[in-house]
Formats: sequence, structure tokens, C-alpha cells
Amino acid sequence: MEHLQMKNPIVEIDGDEMTRILWHMIKEELILPFVDLKTEYYDLGIRNRDETDDQVTIDAGNAIKRLKVGVKCATITPNEKRMAEYDLKRLWKSPNATIRSILDGTVFRTPILIDRIKPAVRTWQKPITIARHAFGDIYKGVELRIPGKGKAELVYTAEDGSVTSETINEFERRGIVQGTYNLDQSIESFAHACFNYALTVQQDLWFSTKDTISKTYDGTFRAIFEKVYKDHYQNEFEKKGINYFYTLIDDAIARVIRSKGGFIWACKNYDGDVMSDMVSTAFGSLAMMTSVLVSPEGNFEYEAAHGTVTQHYYKYLKGEETSTNPTATIFAWTGALTKRGELDNLPGLVAFAKSLETAVIDVLESGICTKDLGTLYEGVPPRVVSSEEFIREIRAKVEAVQPN
Ligand code: NAP
Ligand code: MG
Repeated sequence: MEHLQMKNPIVEIDGDEMTRILWHMIKEELILPFVDLKTEYYDLGIRNRDETDDQVTIDAGNAIKRLKVGVKCATITPNEKRMAEYDLKRLWKSPNATIRSILDGTVFRTPILIDRIKPAVRTWQKPITIARHAFGDIYKGVELRIPGKGKAELVYTAEDGSVTSETINEFERRGIVQGTYNLDQSIESFAHACFNYALTVQQDLWFSTKDTISKTYDGTFRAIFEKVYKDHYQNEFEKKGINYFYTLIDDAIARVIRSKGGFIWACKNYDGDVMSDMVSTAFGSLAMMTSVLVSPEGNFEYEAAHGTVTQHYYKYLKGEETSTNPTATIFAWTGALTKRGELDNLPGLVAFAKSLETAVIDVLESGICTKDLGTLYEGVPPRVVSSEEFIREIRAKVEAVQPN
């Protein structure tokens, strides 16, 4: 079989635990037999991050800036327990947070649907993509416990020393206060990423906040989105026949539940955190959720939305058979191959990625799946297989459709 050729490399970011095992199985069985794969490899396994004082993560982020396309395996974000488990020098930061801050990106999460698993919401027919603003608000907030009688104020001291202040509350008794912020620049980047993504996938973009209550804070989000839309995207949206639609967050939720799906829902940081778990669970499984980080300059990092599946890894280490679902990780690879193919004008590579995605869906539709999906099928119960067998079934389907 002739191997497909590539022009430019993809940034390949290896990771940890069970997903690292799957990563190599996917490459060996589903990609290397068909593609003369060009990658620039970065090992973000926890041991190598520790050995390089996390420099490897920064290098990987910068490589995506240079090469434009990356694919990332799930990685451990260490806590105290992990620090002891892997004898780490420090509690290294989340690699995703480091890469996100280098790329200044927005994360888009989309479920992979199959006919035999029905979403919990009966009207949903097409995937709903959540675009989460991944900066500021309560994630960078400060809080105070108010012990008793006294006044709490919001105070801004400008560089020239002038002061603007607002009373938050004259406390008569114990209570709480919170201060949060965001930056126009970050909201603008978020807006650009969302409008660009909507154009790429040719879907409507929804955006929701609570600007009736939060007139200045959420009102600024709304105003920036409106301005970015009018100044840069309205013409192209009209040409492509897609819409930008703003509504209040509570109205958006009601509409999402009644919708058929098939659009992008841009959410503020907290709303995106909560709504992406609601949407992914209602569509089926975390193992069927893809994720792509898109920067305002048009750099793309593809990954699975789930973590390193630690409990399965411990079983694997004991020599037990595991049935971990590789679907989202395979789709991370196909996403990166497709984008590379589009940027480098390689239709063969794009077609191969599509055929690999189709093969995964066909195997799942034929009633062969991993354990996480076993109880979700409608009708005839599926055959639950190991990760290896699942990947072998996919390979057989890919081989059947490759041109000789
Ligand atoms: P997780 O790895 O996503 O796993 C949580 C549970 O979800 C698993 O125990 C498993 O349930 C199920 N699951 C997730 N992915 C699956 C798959 N592909 N196939 C089958 N089942 C799957 O989350 P976690 O246990 O909270 O985190 C583990 C490690 O991953 C942590 O060190 C965390 O820092 C890291 N993490 C990394 C990323 C990232 O790199 N993007 C994201 C999240 C977490 P059952 O055990 O019930 O089968
Ligand atoms: Mg969450």
C-alpha cells in the first residue's frame, strides 16, 4: 500500500498513563501503516516535564505557534498525591493552561454522535459545540469573609493616583464579598476565535451572558462581541448564510434544550465550565468529546476532552485487559491531519482522516464498543471489546477502503 506524503510536520505532544498507551497503539495501527507521518515530537509525560523543569511544555506551545497544528495526548496535572507518586521536584502547572496562555486560545468542545446512542435530550440531532472563554472571572477572583458590621467597597486607583469607588454593601452582620475581573483584549480574542470557528465549520454562533443584571461587566462582553462582529465578520456571515445570535444565558439554556443542535454556543468562563459537562453528559460520554484550542492567529491544537484515565492505567500495569475508549484521541489525530492537509493543500491526507473517522463511527454503529458505551446503546446490546480489539476492528475498516 502506498503511503500518503506530508509537507509540513504536526506538533505531536505525548502525555501520560492510559492515554499514552492508547496514543502509541493509535499511531502504530491506524496512522503509520497509511501515512508517511511527519511530526515534531514533544514528550509531555510527567517525568520528562519534571526532568526539563517544564521547559518541554513551553517548547511545545511555541512549536504550535510556528507550525500552526498540534495534537496533544492527555497529561497529568499534578497535585500533592501525584507529586509523591512520581517523586516530582515541584507541583508543575497544568500543561493545558501553559499552552493556552502561549497561544491565547479558546477551547471548542464537540461531541461525536452515533445513531445507536441517543442523546438524553430527544430533540438534539446534531452536535452542540461549547466555546468556553478560558480567562478571568471567578477563576481569577478574590474573596473576603466579612466578619461583621462594616463597609465593603470596590476601589480603583489609577496610575495618576486618582480614585474611583463604589460601595458594595454596608454590612450589619457577617457575610461575603467577591471581586472578579476580565480584560477587553482577552474578550476580543475570544470573540475573534468564536467568529472564525463559526465560519470554518459554517454553523451559527450563539453567545449568552446576563447583561440585564450585570450591566457593566456582562454588558462589556456583549458590546465587544457586537463590535467585533460588525467590524470584521458580519459580511462573511451573511455570505455564508450563518447567523450571530445574542441572548440572555437563561433564555439560551431554554432554547438549547428545545433546539435540534448544530451550532456553537459561546459561554463565559463559568457558564462554559458548567454547560460543557451538561452537554457532554447529555450527548453520551466524556470519551466521545473532542476538544480543539484555536488561537486568534489561526493555530490549532487538537486533543480529547477527557484525562489520562488513571484507574484503567493501574489495571493495565497489573496486566489486566482494559476497555478504554480511544475515540476522542483518534479524532484528535484526524482533526490535526485534516487541518494539516487543508493548510498544505493535501486533499489525500484530508480524505484519509475522513475515512478513519468514518471507520470509527462504522465500528460503533455495527455494535462493537468499549465498556464506557456498553450500557448506552438502544436496541440490541453491543459487543464490548478491549481497546486493542476495538482499534483492530477500526484498522480492518480503514484498510478495506484505502486505494491500492
Ligand atoms: P479522566 O481521566 O477523564 O477519567 C475520569 C473517568 O471517566 C475514568 O475513570 C473513566 O471512568 C471515565 N473515562 C474518561 N475517559 C475515558 C475513556 N477514554 N474511556 C473510558 N472511560 C473513560 O479524569 P480524572 O480521573 O479526573 O483525571 C485523571 C488524570 O487526568 C488527572 O491526573 C488529571 O490531571 C488529568 N486530566 C488531564 C486532562 C487533559 O490533559 N486534557 C483533562 C482532564 C484530566 P471509569 O473509571 O468509571 O471507567
Ligand atoms: Mg468542569
